[in-house]
Amino acid sequence: MLTQAPFAQQLLHWFDDHGRYHLPWQQSRNGYRVWVSEIMLQQTQVATVIPYFERFMQRFPSVEALAQAEQDDVLSLWTGLGYYSRARNLHASAISICEQHQGQMPSDLGSLIALKGIGRSTAGAIMSQAFDQPGVILDGNVKRLLTRLHGIEGWPGLSHIEKQLWQLATELTPTQRNADYSQAIMDLGATVCKPKQPLCVTCPMQSTCQALANDTVAQIPTPKPKKVLPQKTVSVLLLKNPQGQIQLQQRPAKGIWGGLWSLPEYAHLTALHAHLALSGLPINTQALPTIKHVFSHYKLSIEPHLLQLKQQPTKVAENDQNRWYDAAQLHTIGLATPIKKLLENNQ
Ligand code: SF4
Repeated sequence: MLTQAPFAQQLLHWFDDHGRYHLPWQQSRNGYRVWVSEIMLQQTQVATVIPYFERFMQRFPSVEALAQAEQDDVLSLWTGLGYYSRARNLHASAISICEQHQGQMPSDLGSLIALKGIGRSTAGAIMSQAFDQPGVILDGNVKRLLTRLHGIEGWPGLSHIEKQLWQLATELTPTQRNADYSQAIMDLGATVCKPKQPLCVTCPMQSTCQALANDTVAQIPTPKPKKVLPQKTVSVLLLKNPQGQIQLQQRPAKGIWGGLWSLPEYAHLTALHAHLALSGLPINTQALPTIKHVFSHYKLSIEPHLLQLKQQPTKVAENDQNRWYDAAQLHTIGLATPIKKLLENNQ
């Protein structure tokens, strides 16, 4: 097995010829750009992130610009990227950076992980990528690479396996060419030691890889034990006024789609009709096709019901959390993706 110096040397040698140098966040590199890119790249492929990153930077070119933005503006640029707590945390942390660090991205591990949404690996990536310090990273790509290289069996999410991987990642991280090293180890995981059909024949680590030697590449990393996801069903109301505007409701800050705009939601159709009756509205709703959506911890069936009003209602609340929106305004607010699609299909 390679120890730190030869491993880093071999990896950097490979990176010099095959690494990625033209990603947007590698240009005009600074702490803010690296931070935003690292948050967007969590659970998300580079190709998906690039247009989101470019739009985000155009709109919020600095920590100050992000801190001064309305949360709705931040969420609207995140629509479709998923895991919306990332956007809320990014916004909250930009405010903290302005208040506590004079708008300067901190460069030490302790201050970075004190910020909302920044874990140990993201902090390591910011330290190395933005400040060229020996920050240790252990994202999904690095975990896969290290488990295969060292033939480590067992799901990497288990705490004892994760601890072992952190130890290995720390031992292997060099003290020079830090930005290149962290990019190199992520690139090797993403482009060569891929989840499916890794390119072992072109891999610079093939002579020392345990999984390759033991013919266990396809079994490592051990997948997460499968559990049956619970199923939940809700009814939502697509209420249109005579001008074609739609009633939207802002979701609570915490929980699924926190802070995003959505349709009023009810446990079932009877509750939806009871609400309409209380508001003095007709209950001749029209059922639209059910939408299925899978979250990490449950499956959701959304049953939409359309009600086209002939008169502007007097009892339908309009306040900070409930508003009528024109179709043309919908791109300016953060919307849950399935709801966005539903609205686009029923304009
Ligand atoms: S030899 Fe194959 S399995 Fe081993 S590190 Fe390289 S790409 Fe991954």
